[in-house]
Amino acid sequence: MPKKLILTVIDGLGPALLDRAVAAGRAPTLAHLQELGERSDACVSTFPSLTPVCLSSLITGRHPAGHRIPSMTWYHRGEGRFVEYGSSFLATLAEGTRQMVDDVLVNLNLLHLSPRATTVFEALEDEGLVTAAVNTYICRGRVRHPITREAARRIARRVGIVDAVYGPRRYFFGELFWSDDTGAPRNFGGSVDRHGGHVGRWLVTRDGFDFLFLYLYETDAAQHRGGDVMGAVEQADASLGLLVDAAGGWDQFLERYAVMVVADHSQSTVERAVDAHEPLEGLKLFRSSRHSDPAECDLAVAASNRVAMAYLLPGGRLTASEVGHRYARHPFSDVVMWQEGAWYAARREGGELRFRRGEGLEDARGNSWELAGDRDLLDPALYPNALERIEGAVSCATSGDVIVSARLGDEFADSGGQHHAGGGSHGSLRAEDSLVPLITAGFDAPTGLGAQPSITDLTPLALWHFSRTAEPARSIL
Ligand SMILES: [Zn+2]
Repeated sequence: MPKKLILTVIDGLGPALLDRAVAAGRAPTLAHLQELGERSDACVSTFPSLTPVCLSSLITGRHPAGHRIPSMTWYHRGEGRFVEYGSSFLATLAEGTRQMVDDVLVNLNLLHLSPRATTVFEALEDEGLVTAAVNTYICRGRVRHPITREAARRIARRVGIVDAVYGPRRYFFGELFWSDDTGAPRNFGGSVDRHGGHVGRWLVTRDGFDFLFLYLYETDAAQHRGGDVMGAVEQADASLGLLVDAAGGWDQFLERYAVMVVADHSQSTVERAVDAHEPLEGLKLFRSSRHSDPAECDLAVAASNRVAMAYLLPGGRLTASEVGHRYARHPFSDVVMWQEGAWYAARREGGELRFRRGEGLEDARGNSWELAGDRDLLDPALYPNALERIEGAVSCATSGDVIVSARLGDEFADSGGQHHAGGGSHGSLRAEDSLVPLITAGFDAPTGLGAQPSITDLTPLALWHFSRTAEPARSIL
């Protein structure tokens, strides 16, 4: 039987931040883990590099085209409304807070996350293994978990919102869902990550899983608001340290577990908030299902953090290429991309690259591309794994027809006008948002991760680890 496996995701932890925390002595657990195992700083997020998209990629091994969660906020063509997973509280008011609760707790996992994409929880439990997840809201599994507290469940039923989710066998989400009473310190009013670490400690103490997905979120939040970032990394590190202690120390920990630590994305500094609607002057824009009729609008624009998506509406007067060119001329745009026939088009600084799968350039992940136009438009040092990621975003059925990756320093205000100017953000194609550290330790065999791993490689790696029947699989679109 292979070792049990722990995947820890530290939201927003970039390679440079990890280095600073290690150098300052604030991340002793991670420092020791990377000494005992291997660390790559060439691991790339998916695109858009936003948490709901990245967590979906982490648990399905697919880019958005495969899992269909295209962004933090997106326009639902079938329902004629915006979906909002929580850019900010004010942004949830556009379509209603209750709609957002439904979207995050029910629709995301059961309707929006493609049923054709099997999650790591579903795949491993179908093999008879026990999976566990802590504090991730993207968690689709086979087991129904009602809201744990009877009183809260009754309130949820009375106001007509969801009272259960489908997750892994062992599922813990703050004060709402816990499949086991772990005695962990409270989530609300305390540290979410500290709580998560204590749940993890309980699970390790009881040897209560084959696969554990431990999600630590506060490092991202601290960077967004320019808060105590080092303190957040230190807390995440200490939470992981609780699991090591529970196993009886490092030797026992790595004897029992193979471990992966990764971030879903990194962060860059925000200097300016910008309005994604600006280049669209003179067009009729869909604002929300409460205020607009999509049949009478040209475009719907969903923007959050450092990415914006423009959706052509049925009665609209423009093509994707026309909208793309409008955006490409605007100073907040870095890379603007869309599909044109069988090609993907990307514009940046007046240049244009077209590409599709075929003979020509072989990239760092072994993909082969046919290129036309400005071949050097997307320097891999600045735009890691760009072609695979653009393909994975633009060809996603729920993505906008045109996608805009923001210039460094710029962030799109969300539909509630909220932004992180003075703090940090992410979402773009740029390396600053996209490169993450990946630490692996305790694996019995070489992981087969190449020179440029992707966060989409980790579910295939987990399945390979437990099956041992094939070579480590590469991510699939
Ligand atoms: Zn974030």
